[in-house]
Amino acid sequence: MSPPTTIAVPAAVSRSGEWLEDPGFGVYIHIPFCLHRCHYCDFNTYALKESAGAENVHRPYVDALVADIEANALDRGPATSVFFGGGTPTLLPAEDLGRILAAVRASVGIVPDAEITVEANPETVDERYFAGLLEAGFNRVSIGIQSLVPRVLAGLGRTHSPEVALGAMTVAKRAGVPDVNGDLIYGSPWERSEDWRASLEGLIEASPDHISAYALTVEEGTPLATLVATGRVADVDPDLQADRYEIAGELLGRAGYGRYEISNWARRGRASAHNVLYWSAGNYLGFGAGAHGHLDGTRYWSKRLPRDYIAAAAAGRSPEAGRETLAPPVRVAEALMLGIRLASGINLASFERRWGDGTLDVHAPEITALVTDGLIEEAGGWLRATPRGTFLASEIGSRLL
Ligand code: SF4
Repeated sequence: MSPPTTIAVPAAVSRSGEWLEDPGFGVYIHIPFCLHRCHYCDFNTYALKESAGAENVHRPYVDALVADIEANALDRGPATSVFFGGGTPTLLPAEDLGRILAAVRASVGIVPDAEITVEANPETVDERYFAGLLEAGFNRVSIGIQSLVPRVLAGLGRTHSPEVALGAMTVAKRAGVPDVNGDLIYGSPWERSEDWRASLEGLIEASPDHISAYALTVEEGTPLATLVATGRVADVDPDLQADRYEIAGELLGRAGYGRYEISNWARRGRASAHNVLYWSAGNYLGFGAGAHGHLDGTRYWSKRLPRDYIAAAAAGRSPEAGRETLAPPVRVAEALMLGIRLASGINLASFERRWGDGTLDVHAPEITALVTDGLIEEAGGWLRATPRGTFLASEIGSRLL
């Protein structure tokens, strides 16, 4: 298949972490398999150990992804970022991930300096595996560290040890992965303040380029929700999580990591282009079971179950399960809400250039009220969340939408 016609390519893929008027174009690939299911997880993923024969699904799933990408690239590329998420993408051989990436390159196109990320579970990777990823064209790895305290990891239902987590990070760097992210989770019922500090300090010492820190949420239908509902585990405490968030800001800031989004910190020039594309309300294609895509105000999603996704792709049918088109004011409110999650906020002049003169006027009453309440502020032509608003982003979002 010959490469598709392309739209204008940004001169260079920005890694500044600031809101972008032209955020590029993204591709998301979903790999819905894990070694086992973590207690808090509500992602669309299926555990290998708990589902007999799941490994037999892997190869047909890769074939289905390649067929989907070839059939539905939509002539919209080239991609400035590609993100393989899950699930645990690194449960698949690096060659299979490379085959999927090659399909993206051939059908969508990928700019030369694109950010190409894969999420990795510490238990599934070693130096050879990382070498395979580099050979396939990946240049960024996001490792699910979550905690460096055994009790906390056990409570979350993670089966790796702190040593294995840090080992994965060391080995990724030794293999020459140019960009490494470490994911952490804070505010679980098993975590004390000193545990959180120890996790942050341990990860900082390992010196990744980027650190994501997410507050634990109790999602319906998870084993954690049952534990909380039956009183066997305390619910998460938002005040305590706010304290932990402050600790993260303090320790990461002191170590040279700048916060560019509510939950994301990076060394200068190492912000994730794919994250910023999401927060800048950019366009992206989504491939894989349950994957979502967004094109010019239309969101679409694929069949959730891997077997349904595989059956559709194998039969040459579209795996799409649904779509919705946002009315223009909702689309602008959503872009505003997403942009305010970035530490930069949105650039007012660029925002109006992109969405049309006067688009913000429609939302002026809500914006004024949020400014009055001290949740957002305008400075130097940028509209951003205040330090208080940063932790109340969901409230800002619900008031804008
Ligand atoms: S590894 Fe990630 S995706 Fe898989 S079950 Fe655990 S939290 Fe969910």
